[in-house]
Amino acid sequence: KKREKNIESLLREQLPEYVIDILKRMGRLGHRLGYGVYAVGGFVRDILLRRPNLDIDIVVEGDGIVFARAFAQEEGIRVRTHKKFNTAVLIFPDGMKIDVATARLEYYRYPAALPVVEFGSLKMDLYRRDFTINTLAVDLRPERFGRLIDFFGGQKDLKEKTIRVLHSLSFVEDPTRILRAIRFEQRFGFQIGRQTERLMQNAVKIGLIEKIGGHRLFHELQLILMENDPVPALRRMDEFQLLGVLDPLLKWTEKKEKLFRSLKDVLSWYELSFLDEPVEKWWIYFCALLDGLNASQLEGVCKKLDLPEGHKTRLFGALRNIYRAARELEAKESPPPSIAYRILNGLSTEELLLLMAKTEIPEVRKSVNFYLTRYRYVSPEIKGRDLKEAGVPPGPIYRKILDELLYAKLDGLVYTKQDEWEYLKRHYPEIFKDES
Ligand code: ATP
Repeated sequence: KKREKNIESLLREQLPEYVIDILKRMGRLGHRLGYGVYAVGGFVRDILLRRPNLDIDIVVEGDGIVFARAFAQEEGIRVRTHKKFNTAVLIFPDGMKIDVATARLEYYRYPAALPVVEFGSLKMDLYRRDFTINTLAVDLRPERFGRLIDFFGGQKDLKEKTIRVLHSLSFVEDPTRILRAIRFEQRFGFQIGRQTERLMQNAVKIGLIEKIGGHRLFHELQLILMENDPVPALRRMDEFQLLGVLDPLLKWTEKKEKLFRSLKDVLSWYELSFLDEPVEKWWIYFCALLDGLNASQLEGVCKKLDLPEGHKTRLFGALRNIYRAARELEAKESPPPSIAYRILNGLSTEELLLLMAKTEIPEVRKSVNFYLTRYRYVSPEIKGRDLKEAGVPPGPIYRKILDELLYAKLDGLVYTKQDEWEYLKRHYPEIFKDES
């Protein structure tokens, strides 16, 4: 019998003390209730890969909801239960969450009069998972705390850096795993195993991807786009002819490669300059991926992904804004700041960044750069309040005057509040007589 590995020291190396204590208390509660309690899945995988991850998934052999309620009560924390799935979420005061699932109870009926024996099956639960590297579990019960449980060769595949499914019907059972395989492969720098790759190719060939509901397809794509660097996974999707699922003509071309390279530069520049104004990177990548498709192709993609109406509006709006702004800026040679401002003013930061990555014209990039770093912070010294005090009758004239002052300031025609009053006297002599 092979010796079981204990990874308590590995857990202690990588997790804060209070998390270890929580895991220990869960194990003790399990012991008292007569339940098996295990940390499983991505959490264990990441401990072995030494990639810190505080998304903790617990599987209880027993009643997960009873367990979670009791734990929440003892700790004085919140719990949310989902009766339908026998799952619960523990919510800690600092916002940390721990998911609790119930290992499927399998009933075996013994012959004749013997009682019905039930046993919770961790193994059964793990067998339903996507890849071997996600099937590892750690026992949390006292006495065995930290013992690594590996039914399906997860450790070996982690060592060999291989993504493998558990059985040959895995992709048929759930075709979203095709995209998950690619995501994990690229995130960890692993390889999809040969047999698994064949199963994937076959699954794609027989059109299983088309069976994924739009909503789930979109979710998996979104997860890929949320990776640190989604590019390798997008390339790999193309190799498996998966981009064509979105639109038959969508390909990973040299042009896309270039756009995403440029996007990477723009985003690192942006993130260094604006640490406290994060943007939705996945969204920018999403727009970049679909950039170049015409309206009817975009309609098709939205339908395939069952894209929520809000996203759809935002997508069409973004691409329209970017095309328009690019066209207007490219038509002008070094536009004055007030003109660049007016062209760019309606764009979201995400749209501005994509525009910056997309344009081939340095002048245009510079305008967007200046907009982000300077123009958008400019406002005139004179406020509406000042106009009111100066006796300007209320009405749309306020907006007009304040805009004009802003443009004058952007273009360096005025610096101080005094300059602004002078400017108004010159341009609106009938309103601003001499009383400054
Ligand atoms: P990530 O680091 O991206 O969060 P994760 O492994 O924690 O990765 P989740 O999507 O949070 O992934 O899923 C948690 C666990 O549930 C996984 O470890 C995996 O075993 C299992 N799982 C998720 N999706 C599937 C699926 N489609 N088929 C089978 N098992 C799945």
